[in-house]
Amino acid sequence: MTKYEHLYVIIEHEEGKIVPVSLEMLGEARRLMDDYNRRYAANEKVVAILLGSGVRAISDELIQYGADAVICADHPELRYSRNPVDTKVISQIALDRSLVLKFSSTSTEFERPRYMFFAADSIGRQLSSTVMTQLDSGLASDINKLVIGDLEIRHEHKTKGQPIVYERTLEMYRPDFSGFLWTTILCLDNRNPAITRDYYPQACSIIPGVFQPIEHDASRKGVILDYSPSFDPADLKVKVLSRRISKSAVDYDSRKAVVSFGRGIKDAPEENIKLVVELAREIDAEIGVSLPISKKPYPVSESLSSSYMVPDRVIGTSGRKVMPLLYIAIGISGAMQHIAGMKESGYVIAINPDPESPMKDECDIFVKGRMEDVIPLLLDELHALKPVMEARK
Ligand SMILES: Cc1cc2nc3c(=O)[nH]c(=O)nc-3n(C[C@H](O)[C@H](O)[C@H](O)COP(=O)(O)OP(=O)(O)OC[C@H]3O[C@@H](n4cnc5c(N)ncnc54)[C@H](O)[C@@H]3O)c2cc1C
Repeated sequence: MTKYEHLYVIIEHEEGKIVPVSLEMLGEARRLMDDYNRRYAANEKVVAILLGSGVRAISDELIQYGADAVICADHPELRYSRNPVDTKVISQIALDRSLVLKFSSTSTEFERPRYMFFAADSIGRQLSSTVMTQLDSGLASDINKLVIGDLEIRHEHKTKGQPIVYERTLEMYRPDFSGFLWTTILCLDNRNPAITRDYYPQACSIIPGVFQPIEHDASRKGVILDYSPSFDPADLKVKVLSRRISKSAVDYDSRKAVVSFGRGIKDAPEENIKLVVELAREIDAEIGVSLPISKKPYPVSESLSSSYMVPDRVIGTSGRKVMPLLYIAIGISGAMQHIAGMKESGYVIAINPDPESPMKDECDIFVKGRMEDVIPLLLDELHALKPVMEARK
């Protein structure tokens, strides 16, 4: 018997349609906990937490994608995500032993979840930080690899310099330093006798697109529990009166090609963006950018800056996911956060003078060269082909 048990996954949905990252998190939770239960001869559960209004029907789907139990807070006040309200309800659920006893009768000592997963998207990034503040534990953000293991740690503060084995520790890997190095983040108890303190849940937010859902299994069985949240009038001060999802002016869905540029434009930003725009126009492609470009790192004219150096065009984990027939990456190094947004493209061409750039492993054709030299050659070829293409129409 232990105070900390089970892995809770916070589910996101859009008006009752589960967003893909939630199923990806459930898949990874299932794989981790199956392995965990085998190794530690345990019977800890994957628990999906579902908030919304009129959403109970999707609980079955969550079980079919790997949850052992679904705790569903179905309430009109939860129709739209509001951070303070959701934070309160999730924190209430996380500390509720009576709920846990309904799917795990041995959890009589339960105090809080052992692990907790959130999505690293615009809702989950904020929610994870406010829930973990409420629960007074740690959080690792933007994680793309997870391992559970026993680690020997020696730390001046945490272990008073003594080697101590931390069992069942969640190793949370985070891509850092432009996406080419990993940091491993651990949420460890203080075992130093002078400052003993536990840190649970061990929690993280998970980058969309990095894990796979498990195969859908309509025969999977699980427990669905209804939870009635309690609110104070103060919680409900912010009302959502109406909601409109604005459609992006950037059209990645109907175009067959996307031409993206990154910091490789740096030597002549204005001229190089114009080259990219001309290439995109010639092949009727939409234009994408890497994340740093959206932060306007180079001075260019206002019209180019406001049209192209914008968050709406970012491709990757912090922006959009695209899957055109043709993706051309110009002056983009190929950090994993960018790759996650374009790896399902049909055919990929990269233009880059550095043959060591990771983009080389992600493309079908790697053109080793500077964009200033390569794009004009491509444009010449396209102009020469134009009459032939026109004749074929
Ligand atoms: C939490 C988090 C989320 C992130 N999300 C995203 C995301 O969604 N999308 C994203 O893109 N990034 C994201 N990043 C940033 C990512 O890690 C990289 O820093 C970023 O993708 C690098 O952008 P880049 O390829 O334009 O620049 P760089 O890495 O600087 O690469 C520039 C490339 O241009 C090449 N080059 C140089 N001169 C020329 C030339 N004349 N012609 C052609 N090529 C040239 C260089 O060889 C180099 O390969 C995220 C980072 C973090 C920490």
